[in-house]
Amino acid sequence: MNTESATCGVCGRSVPLDQDHVKVDAETVRTRDRNEADDYVLHPRCADAVFEGWRCPA
Ligand SMILES: [Zn+2]
Repeated sequence: MNTESATCGVCGRSVPLDQDHVKVDAETVRTRDRNEADDYVLHPRCADAVFEGWRCPA
């Protein structure tokens, strides 16, 4: 795998890691089992489109 770019989790295109991008660490917290972590890299525009309307938990 090329270390200079990653695949966008939204559109599937290449994300150059030396340019602006968004990293998402998604952790599934389970009360009765191990937690599960997933990492994603998104284009800033893709992240805006996906996260629009999301609310903070607090
Ligand atoms: Zn994208």
